[in-house]
Amino acid sequence: MSGTVHIIGAGLSGLSAALALSARGRSAIVHEATTFAGGRCRSFYDAALNMTIDNGNHLLLSGNRAALGYLRGIGAAQRLVGPPTAEFSFVDLASRERWTLRFNDGHLPLWIFSSSGRVPGTRALDYLPLARLLWARPGKTVGEVIACEGPVYRRLVGPLLLAALNIDPPQGAARLATAVIRETLAAGGRACRPLIAREGLGETLIKPALACLQQRGVAVRMEHQLRGLRFAGERVEALDFGSETTALAPDDAVVLAVPPYAAASLVRGLGVPTEFRAIVNAHFRVEPPADLPPILGALNGTVEWIFAFPGRLAVTVSAGDRLMETPRDVLAKTIWGEVASVTGLPTALPPWQIVRERRATFAATPAQDARRPGAKTAWRNLVLAGDWTNTGLPATIEGAIRSGNRAAKLIAKLQ
Ligand SMILES: Cc1cc2nc3c(=O)[nH]c(=O)nc-3n(C[C@H](O)[C@H](O)[C@H](O)COP(=O)(O)OP(=O)(O)OC[C@H]3O[C@@H](n4cnc5c(N)ncnc54)[C@H](O)[C@@H]3O)c2cc1C
Repeated sequence: MSGTVHIIGAGLSGLSAALALSARGRSAIVHEATTFAGGRCRSFYDAALNMTIDNGNHLLLSGNRAALGYLRGIGAAQRLVGPPTAEFSFVDLASRERWTLRFNDGHLPLWIFSSSGRVPGTRALDYLPLARLLWARPGKTVGEVIACEGPVYRRLVGPLLLAALNIDPPQGAARLATAVIRETLAAGGRACRPLIAREGLGETLIKPALACLQQRGVAVRMEHQLRGLRFAGERVEALDFGSETTALAPDDAVVLAVPPYAAASLVRGLGVPTEFRAIVNAHFRVEPPADLPPILGALNGTVEWIFAFPGRLAVTVSAGDRLMETPRDVLAKTIWGEVASVTGLPTALPPWQIVRERRATFAATPAQDARRPGAKTAWRNLVLAGDWTNTGLPATIEGAIRSGNRAAKLIAKLQ
């Protein structure tokens, strides 16, 4: 079959579906509601800083195989940078202690036997209970599977799961924690190298994808919001864009790659996650000190991760719902105070910007996880994609791209 596939949404799930379909020679067209591609993973020019920034720091790990495949496919793999081995530097804002975790490459976690590679104040035996997370039963929370206390939890597992699940880890779905641990810590250092888009998310993940789609003749229509789907029997027969309607030919198909609340308003009876967690990012226009690691984890403060970019420091606070109502200048001052104390930079506040993404990810609780639908729908030519569909992973770039790839495969099989 060779009909056109209409992809609704130019986030990473939609873009990856479009890339996978066009790589197979399928004709595709992407419809995006806003003026930009990238969705929750985007760069934009910020007037307050007079520079281009990302909506939020995005960390990938070298074990994110779908994301790395996507980048190779668009010729941008080299734009993701990271250390040659898996290293994570931390600072404790309360005790001022600093340490670096160094994971060995192989599957056997030899690093837990090295006092200079593991979390300070821990013994190898303290890591044993973590194995329980590898075989957690569905429906359980992390807090029901492991004790969320002690130095291994506070200094390693807690920060890792908070960043990956974007939820206070004890409430998080153990099934999602299991997937994260299996694909990272348990897979060895080779899967744990931290990777960042040093030149920005747009230059790394979005612009090269758009260029690749353009080369393949895939149109990406901006400001083209889907207002409704017209169903007829077991098919979608037309797409309603408000000012125009596109009738679908018998072999045309649709990949709906929009956020869950948008999908629920377009597809009757679709169950989707309904709760979300925020992520807060603070950006400061300042040259990072030369000795600052590209990513620094911080404990016992508001700041959780500090990312160093050329001419800019950016801070991430996950599950940041508690900070949504804090006045922006108060937040900037609090965060900068912590950053200055860690980096030794002057305490005077540099130019700053706060970006608060209220619905950054669905809330990764067992109940919300259970609401995630699969990619197939009751309609033969309609497939779902998005980080919130049931990928088995938390809402991440890796999950979004896997969902786009899966949608493309299903379309190929369906017809
Ligand atoms: C601040 C922040 C930090 C993050 N950090 C990380 C991280 O460190 N590591 C990581 O792996 N992940 C991270 N994530 C998660 C990651 O960004 C998302 O998982 C991923 O971008 C989701 O892609 P998506 O395509 O599923 O959805 P989206 O990006 O939401 O894309 C959906 C698209 O559909 C469009 N749309 C909506 N309705 C319509 C309509 N009716 N018609 C047409 N178009 C429509 C939207 O405008 C949007 O462009 C972070 C997210 C945020 C917000």
